Amino acid sequence: MRTSPPAPPARCDDAPGRLEPRIDPLRCEGKADCLRVCPHGVFDLRPLSAEEKRILTPLVRFKIWAHGGKQAFVERPDACQACGLCVPACPEKAIKLVRGAGATVAL
Ligand code: SF4
Ligand code: SF4
Repeated sequence: MRTSPPAPPARCDDAPGRLEPRIDPLRCEGKADCLRVCPHGVFDLRPLSAEEKRILTPLVRFKIWAHGGKQAFVERPDACQACGLCVPACPEKAIKLVRGAGATVAL
């Protein structure tokens, strides 16, 4: 499920690729707040594969099922401009920003 992202905020001006989000699959309940706030379409929401389900606990699998059977994934990490909007927007505290593949400076 994709939703229209809001316009980029003024502070969303970091170089793409320096940071990127990581989602903790044991916390994500697929509530899609990250998709709604990200101005650059970094996230997507989709059903999990059998392989992806295997690493989850039965409780997490049940919670995902109860929320529609989907989780968020970082589908376009290179598009992240490190605005930080997704981190506080996640109600499950499932998102962290980490050094991206294009990082050239220390965090
Ligand atoms: S906001 Fe958090 S819980 Fe909701 S889909 Fe994104 S990572 Fe998952
Ligand atoms: S920090 Fe989060 S909200 Fe901001 S561009 Fe990166 S993924 Fe999107």
